[in-house]
Amino acid sequence: MDLPCPCGTGRAYATCCHPLHRGDVADDAAALMRSRYSAYVLGLDGYLLDSWHPDTRPAVVALEAGVRWLGLEVKRHEAEGPDRAVVAFVARYRVGGGRAVRHRETSRFRRVDGRWFYLDGEVDIG
Ligand SMILES: [Zn+2]
Repeated sequence: MDLPCPCGTGRAYATCCHPLHRGDVADDAAALMRSRYSAYVLGLDGYLLDSWHPDTRPAVVALEAGVRWLGLEVKRHEAEGPDRAVVAFVARYRVGGGRAVRHRETSRFRRVDGRWFYLDGEVDIG
């Protein structure tokens, strides 16, 4: 498993997001954010649900077919307290043969019992 990690750190998947996908605790909200992006790339809908805060977790995550993820850029990572953080990012993707789309979002994360969870996000459509 020497594949480069989809999240774009330049590290191998085996030592980057894979341990989190197996259940390891993320060091911070940015690491959790990256592992969730990788989960979208790899189609790990179970992981997306597991890393979603119970208060806002949907019943299912529908992974769209035909989406090709092109890359992730984490723009900002701010701790707002020991168990609260904000991560702003841009994820690029393409659907079928369409144009590349830039999804800009500022996400909120919460830590519960030592584990980070995605709470919600505001999509920036500017
Ligand atoms: Zn990674």
